[in-house]
Amino acid sequence: MDLIRGPFFSSRYKAGGEFCKTPRPVQPGSMPHRYAIHMIYFVSVLLKDIFEQGKNYPWGRPEVCPRCYHYKLWGHGFTARYFHGFPCCLYLKCYRCPNCRCVITLRPDTHFSRIRSSKETIRSHLEQRLKQGRWPRSTLSRSCLRHWLTNLARQTLARLTDSWKEGLLAAFDRLLATGVTPVGKII
Ligand SMILES: [Zn+2]
Repeated sequence: MDLIRGPFFSSRYKAGGEFCKTPRPVQPGSMPHRYAIHMIYFVSVLLKDIFEQGKNYPWGRPEVCPRCYHYKLWGHGFTARYFHGFPCCLYLKCYRCPNCRCVITLRPDTHFSRIRSSKETIRSHLEQRLKQGRWPRSTLSRSCLRHWLTNLARQTLARLTDSWKEGLLAAFDRLLATGVTPVGKII
């Protein structure tokens, strides 16, 4: 998953990832794409606030389209997503670019794309398993935990050098620092 970085966002926003196609510049006024591209745009927000305020939560707006840098984005409603630790779905704000038709979903930067548990939760579970040889007591299913560990091992093999000797927890941190979801599936 490529990361979008640039000086054109306010400091509140962080890198986001496009999950349909590789981003490419689109000139304002050029022919729009036939199909909408979807992007996740990570922002610094607290799930607790979103849970408490629902659709009234004051989401910010990216200053430009993260795909084509068009200067204006339109509101595009909300999308419901589930997160571990919350009894109901939370509403994440969406925007749409009128130039390239990209639909941008804002998502808390405490979480990876498509994973309901937080990065911190995932790391702490893996840490105990890797250091103590057993999983912590948790409401998360064992199959989910094993899935993360398997994916981490695969990501480490695929993305880090063959001579990686620092262990899987260090690999988790290294992959995270490079913008990779350490427990994500190899695509
Ligand atoms: Zn755009």
